[in-house]
Amino acid sequence: MSTIFKKIIDKEIPAKIVYEDDDFIAFEDIAPVAKVHVLVIPKKEIKNLDNATEDDIMLLGKLQLTIAKIARMLGINEEGYRVVTNINANGGQTVYHIHYHIIGGEKLGVMA
Ligand code: 5GP
Repeated sequence: MSTIFKKIIDKEIPAKIVYEDDDFIAFEDIAPVAKVHVLVIPKKEIKNLDNATEDDIMLLGKLQLTIAKIARMLGINEEGYRVVTNINANGGQTVYHIHYHIIGGEKLGVMA
């Protein structure tokens, strides 16, 4: 089932888009947890990592490199940042369209 992120991909609702190509879109999180908080989303509707398949290997590999590219674009790569993807209820996932949080721009607390 489509989510609010599909509406952002389709430009039906606004978002502060920082990057877009044929496969991915990245935009600022509406409720940032750090100075930089960007969501990177494959346009393909996959619920989360638990629902990805071998068909998605290329897409998910490209996603990792795209995340790194966006972090460089945002100028946070040298000081460092965190990448998070939440999966299902215990993981804290609230929007069921696979997405990766890029969090940085400041020193982050220990998480894992
Ligand atoms: P999750 O909790 O599923 O890992 O992450 C969902 C994220 O989407 C949250 O950090 C939340 O703040 C963000 N979010 C939810 N709705 C919107 C929206 O309409 N616009 C934007 N830019 N971010 C949203």
